[in-house]
Amino acid sequence: MDIAKVIVDVPVRSTDRPFDYSIPQPLRVWIEVGSRVAVPFGHRTVQGFVIALESGDVREIPGLKPIQEVLDLIPPLSPELIDLAEWMSQRYACRRISALQAMLPTALKGKAERFISLGDPVNDQAADHSADSIFLDEELFPMFPDTGREERDITDFISRSGGEVSMKQLTRTFPEAAESVKFMLRRGVLVESQTIKDKMGKKKLKAVNLAVGADSAREALSSFPARSARQKEVLSFLIEMEAMLPLPLKEVLAMLQVTAGTVKSLEEKGYIEISEIEVYRDPYRGRDFKPTEPLLLTEEQEVVYTRIARTVDELRHEVFLLHGVTGSGKTEIYLQSIQRCMDQGRQAVVLVPEISLTPQMVERFKGRFGSGVAVMHSRLSVGERYDEWRKIREGKATVAVGARSAIFAPFTNLGLIIVDEEHEGSYKQEENPKYHARDVAVRRAEQGDAVVILGSATPSLESYYAARTQSDIHFSPVLLEMPSRALGNELPKVQVVDMREELKEGNRSMFSRLLHSSLAARLTRGEQTVLLLNRRGFSTFVMCRSCGYVAGCPECDISLTYHSRSDNLRCHYCGHAEPSPKECPECASEHIRFFGTGTQRVEEELGKLFPGIRVIRMDVDTTTEKGSHEKLLGQFRDKKADVLLGTQMVAKGLDFPDVTLVGVITADSALNLPDFRAAEKTFQLLTQVAGRAGRHQLPGEVVVQSYTPEHYSIIHASGHDYTSFMLEELNHRRGLHYPPYCRLILVTLSHEQLPVLLRLSENYALNLQGKARQRRWYGSLDKQSSDALELLGPVASPMPRLKGRYRFQCIIKWRGSINAIGLAREIAEELEDSARDTGLQISIDVDPQMLM
Ligand code: ADP
Ligand code: ZN
Ligand code: ZN
Repeated sequence: MDIAKVIVDVPVRSTDRPFDYSIPQPLRVWIEVGSRVAVPFGHRTVQGFVIALESGDVREIPGLKPIQEVLDLIPPLSPELIDLAEWMSQRYACRRISALQAMLPTALKGKAERFISLGDPVNDQAADHSADSIFLDEELFPMFPDTGREERDITDFISRSGGEVSMKQLTRTFPEAAESVKFMLRRGVLVESQTIKDKMGKKKLKAVNLAVGADSAREALSSFPARSARQKEVLSFLIEMEAMLPLPLKEVLAMLQVTAGTVKSLEEKGYIEISEIEVYRDPYRGRDFKPTEPLLLTEEQEVVYTRIARTVDELRHEVFLLHGVTGSGKTEIYLQSIQRCMDQGRQAVVLVPEISLTPQMVERFKGRFGSGVAVMHSRLSVGERYDEWRKIREGKATVAVGARSAIFAPFTNLGLIIVDEEHEGSYKQEENPKYHARDVAVRRAEQGDAVVILGSATPSLESYYAARTQSDIHFSPVLLEMPSRALGNELPKVQVVDMREELKEGNRSMFSRLLHSSLAARLTRGEQTVLLLNRRGFSTFVMCRSCGYVAGCPECDISLTYHSRSDNLRCHYCGHAEPSPKECPECASEHIRFFGTGTQRVEEELGKLFPGIRVIRMDVDTTTEKGSHEKLLGQFRDKKADVLLGTQMVAKGLDFPDVTLVGVITADSALNLPDFRAAEKTFQLLTQVAGRAGRHQLPGEVVVQSYTPEHYSIIHASGHDYTSFMLEELNHRRGLHYPPYCRLILVTLSHEQLPVLLRLSENYALNLQGKARQRRWYGSLDKQSSDALELLGPVASPMPRLKGRYRFQCIIKWRGSINAIGLAREIAEELEDSARDTGLQISIDVDPQMLM
């Protein structure tokens, strides 16, 4: 191939198309679709991705510049991911480079030096083939003729250079060996690592291995003199552990309580060898994951599993919506389906919401699949994430468990994608590219004939509606239901308390009498309680009780949040901070204080009502440090506390046997938000949190406190009645033309000057309406036609000013087969072009999750 089509990393819209570059001869071996390259662009060198290759006469194209460098030896992206990025750029109206960048670990975003070291191939067929393992059979690998000798020279050179050399060194020493190096990298005989070495290079560890066969070592044991008892002990230990070798030296010393000298003498005698091995900085290392065996499935599970397994075996694409109540045993379905997929030699991705990426969740996957599980967690360091990503790319992991971006795991034969808690809003990325991991999952699976399982106790309206009606041509999941709990226990009883009545009766506390007495009973019985404070929509703002003044951010026009630890006020959007006022800046009253209920206040109140009560508080304040989330949950599991108190974090995925009471302090604070999903989110949250109670032997009870107990989301959640809620909510959405009865596009325009923004926003709306009319798309959604488009706005955004810029928004509602996304983008680009120098910014959010 002579010409590469490259998407360049230049943050200008006009560059959002492939540019042609010629491929210099020495780079030809390395450049593939998916390669990351350095190319000249204008007067600079920029990074880019090769999305296609073409043959042609380079001399015929004037001005064609050559690719300067290839940045990774094995392309970080596959042709499949390149296709996916192209799809994303259309689907989410984002630039191609932004989609491509989203697929890579941060460590690969910059430029860094490359190092080559000797690998530990998983199964190197080429090497195993002959007795002299380094020589290759030319018949077996005709495309790599006679690389055996060269391979040996290369590995020798690397060993002599201390196990690792820079790519530059290697190319200088073996200028003609590119093909061999590439082939060795592919097989894992060589390993590439890049990045600034000391910061996040690979980690090495001294390890011990037998230098002779186990049998001859066993024989040697008898000839050891009595005074070498310690050495004998080490050697017999290593023989016993043969299957686990090499073992880290440190661990051997610690386990046997011997000195390094003892081990060293064994090495000198030639029985063992000590070498450096590479370790992945596995963040879960040092933790024991109890191995688990597949459970005998319940009848309900069996039906569901059989259906999924059949499709997995057929290597066919299909999407399943697994609606199973909390405790129905969805995880076991996931585990067995993954096993099935692995039996086919394919890999699996498990997406979980970031918030549920708890050790408990990880444990279930590591327990079943051991070190073959890569965990991709946003709390990992850049280096740790890079390690996990490499584990996948190098074929050392077959399952990736992670949040949203794990959907881009670089597997080459992905057979199954699981999206747990598929209704979670956190699958939507709020920055560019504004993708939804569930939709990307479905698309990726479609491309690769893979199966998708969307699991939830409370499926999103979009997925449920699509499954029930089968009306969406792109997305028609097969509905699978598990209405009972796997352990046969009942769903907990839910009681709703009307807090207005409490007030009438003279109870001014934040605890109703019922919640108070239920809590007291748990304390007596030594059982545990989870308390949820729904803080969404509740803010801990500072208000003057005399005049009503509320402290707001001077930049963003939103109320500031009180932080008691530092005793100051902070803006959650831009980070502005100021000391908390001692008197009101408006009326000088001293009655200015923070308002609303924070978890800290609930904790104080608990202490007052139940002296000596042990509370673990889990919120953003107590979980910012790495590992703190895990630590707090561990303490609660070890029964070091009576109450786990927290925000949404406590609602998801936790499974503690001794929790028999769940209390929701205010169920409806999220109901009053300006968000058409408020009822759905309230229902989901209540169902999830209620599911935390009575999961094991002890029966559970749930107390929900509310100021609007008559709301259907609260009534149906307390009856565990998903279907009734769904039907009522669908009815509601149909009447108001909200998804799933249409789709939305949120267009936000921002500018420093309000009058300019006003004019440009009006222009946007008019241009869009005009074009839509021309194309006969524009028309009310009330009409019968299957294609329709409506525009709301422009209006000031709910966050009317952010970082010094004013913001206006339009909402496009549409349905049918029209290209509304393309139109929204086209009008935005035209307007940006015509107003290029004014500093106008337009952001497009397709299928937005947050309208506030
Ligand atoms: P879900 O994810 O659907 O809320 P879980 O997967 O957490 O439910 O399962 C709930 C409990 O039931 C867990 O303790 C799990 O170990 C147990 N469980 C699931 N399936 C079985 C089974 N087939 N036999 C015995 N126990 C099971
Ligand atoms: Zn005041
Ligand atoms: Zn601000």
